[in-house]
Amino acid sequence: MRVVLLFVDGLGIGRKDRDINPCTRSPCGLLANFQGENSGALPFDGYCCGLDVTLGVKGLPQSATGQTALLTGVNAARLLNRHLNGFPNKRLREILLAHSILKKVCEMGKRAAFLNAYRPIFFNLDRETQLRLSATTVANLAAELPFFTLEDVVQGRSLYQDFTNWDLIQRGFEMPIYSPQEAGEILAQESEKYDLCLYEYFKTDAAGHSQEFDRAVEEIQKYEAFLKAFLERVDRERTLIIVSSDHGNVEDLSVKTHTRNPAMTLVWGKGARKLKEKLQSIVDIAPLILTVLKAF
Ligand SMILES: [Zn+2]
Repeated sequence: MRVVLLFVDGLGIGRKDRDINPCTRSPCGLLANFQGENSGALPFDGYCCGLDVTLGVKGLPQSATGQTALLTGVNAARLLNRHLNGFPNKRLREILLAHSILKKVCEMGKRAAFLNAYRPIFFNLDRETQLRLSATTVANLAAELPFFTLEDVVQGRSLYQDFTNWDLIQRGFEMPIYSPQEAGEILAQESEKYDLCLYEYFKTDAAGHSQEFDRAVEEIQKYEAFLKAFLERVDRERTLIIVSSDHGNVEDLSVKTHTRNPAMTLVWGKGARKLKEKLQSIVDIAPLILTVLKAF
């Protein structure tokens, strides 16, 4: 059994309101999940559940604590007694370095990869500076795994955070443009090489902060097309697929900030129905992945 963990930033389960929630414009229904709709059934025999992101701490859920919780299973917000925005601080880095899911999977003797590619500038930074970046970066450093380069993207071994490569082309890099479908197929193909494959997408969170409805709809539709192509291609009998966010944001464009809505969490693959019962909060994801990989 393999696990693919797709972290999508700033996507909660919001109200079914066509004026403020771009998930109402989800053409194939993968991300059309709303409050008060309890069936939870998804295309491709998947399930949706809303996970607690408040972590028992007041205030608006934020990225550094949410992502650390998601990637380690440790309630990082409770430890700090607040939600921390942006990149992890020293305490959160310590948690990630000790408990990163990528590290734990490597320690089990299994193959793990963080599939996001980094620009050349990243490789010129020393480790101390790299540790000041995103929670996913720290989680990968904790595992002492290599980082993918833009050449890996060109060769179809990795994806950039903007899987179409459009951001890179705007920055002057010569890159192929991938459709969301092509990127989803690359993810399916490459994820087969690993027991745990992690891929991060955060343009959804940026779209939420912008409060621009058309931009948010475009992000939702792009991500959904990517996910659909991946699900069509991946061997769902042999793969557990978990898509989860760290907190809400884009599902409510009436506010510029994150929300306290549950994180949208989607589960596909063998045993998905039973496994999703074990998920109540974002801290439950990393332990579930370890349990599944230990059992198979
Ligand atoms: Zn944000």
